[in-house]
Amino acid sequence: MPERRIYGPVPSRRLGRSLGVNNIPFKICTYSCMYCQLGKAVRVRESRQEFYKPSELLDETKMVLSNIRNRNEYPDYITIVPDGEPTLDLNLGILIKKLQTLGTPVAVISNASLIHLPEVQDALLLADYISLKIDTVNTETWRKINKPHRALKLNEIISGIHSFADRYSGTLATETMLLQGINDSQKEVDDIARFIAAISVDKVYLAIPTRPPAYKEAIPADEQALNQAYHIFEANSQAVEWLIGYEGNAFSSTGNFRDDLLSITAVHPMREDAVLELLNKTQGNPDLLDGLIKEDLIKKVLYGGHTYFLRKFRK
Ligand code: SF4
Repeated sequence: MPERRIYGPVPSRRLGRSLGVNNIPFKICTYSCMYCQLGKAVRVRESRQEFYKPSELLDETKMVLSNIRNRNEYPDYITIVPDGEPTLDLNLGILIKKLQTLGTPVAVISNASLIHLPEVQDALLLADYISLKIDTVNTETWRKINKPHRALKLNEIISGIHSFADRYSGTLATETMLLQGINDSQKEVDDIARFIAAISVDKVYLAIPTRPPAYKEAIPADEQALNQAYHIFEANSQAVEWLIGYEGNAFSSTGNFRDDLLSITAVHPMREDAVLELLNKTQGNPDLLDGLIKEDLIKKVLYGGHTYFLRKFRK
């Protein structure tokens, strides 16, 4: 069975209800972040290429939208947020334009690693909402947290973010993941906050890993460090918000529990209570879950006192 490339709508802590578009085959990324919820990177690369036809992704998006039974579950955003880095897709700009014809704003969640490339900037300029990852502005810390492709250079990315922010007229957000003992010191946070203060950003999000990370060393920053970071950003006149709460269980159902669960967990591990709620919506049999585990398509993981369901991929 081919992978479904459109998933949700899922509850998004930033965007309300978000219909996800997975424009990259599983886990092709420029980074292999310590905290990645998709496990360790299988293919780290930095060259852009064509993966899927934008017209096919548009058709699949239309089909999923037409299957949403409850209008309250209609997405606030169509979000290009694959299980990898969306700007690796050579067709990103064409895809954004096609999705915008559906009348719902289009967001892109990027790790910013290719933003120094003029063609990537030109594509991202088309989107209504952009989120860029800025975990650090120090090269040593960057290599540790984000484990970038060896051809990438942090100074180029930083100047790319500057020039993009100057050109972009949509909503621009940044996201910084704070890890204990790695980038949560006063100096690290000061450096990030000063850099972000120098660019025009609508919202700064501070996050901690809330799902099982790829590396066990990716420990969430503690309360004291989070509090300190919040105040440092605030002192730099930033509109700062946490992304540390659970996003809720408002996952939408297309009526097919198996498809819904497999497509959502491909990019978004789900907490057990959310899975059970989704199962209830489709009046599905709990045996379906055991069946998917036996088929080796999903697995259970304990993290932070909760059980999560994750998609398993063939390597
Ligand atoms: S967290 Fe995002 S940017 Fe980092 S490796 Fe995973 S998919 Fe790539």
